[in-house]
Amino acid sequence: MSQKQDKQRIYNSKEWKLVRNAKLNKDPLCEECKRRDKWVSATCVHHIIPIETATDYRQMQELAFRFTNLMSLCYQCHSDIHKALNSRSREGHAKATQTALERWAETHKASKPKGSDV
Ligand SMILES: [Zn+2]
Ligand SMILES: [Zn+2]
Repeated sequence: MSQKQDKQRIYNSKEWKLVRNAKLNKDPLCEECKRRDKWVSATCVHHIIPIETATDYRQMQELAFRFTNLMSLCYQCHSDIHKALNSRSREGHAKATQTALERWAETHKASKPKGSDV
């Protein structure tokens, strides 16, 4: 199956709807605006590590449904983030992705029973 179809499958799944709702219930405010002391209700759930970076469907599910990879954002911040991701300033993007990946790996590792596979 193509990656595009995999993505569709995830976004159409009831798991995604549940995860998305749960995230918006937990963090109803835009996390980007909150950092700037603005209180705006979130309308989108963004994936910190884009789910397209997954190499297979199982990994894509991991990225899509894992709470630590989610961010509640308002419409404006969400489109800003995606504009930044698509812009040519790849340096900043690479750095942000790197930090997010590291943070994610850490929480991911901590949730595993054994840490011996490092
Ligand atoms: Zn915002
Ligand atoms: Zn997004």
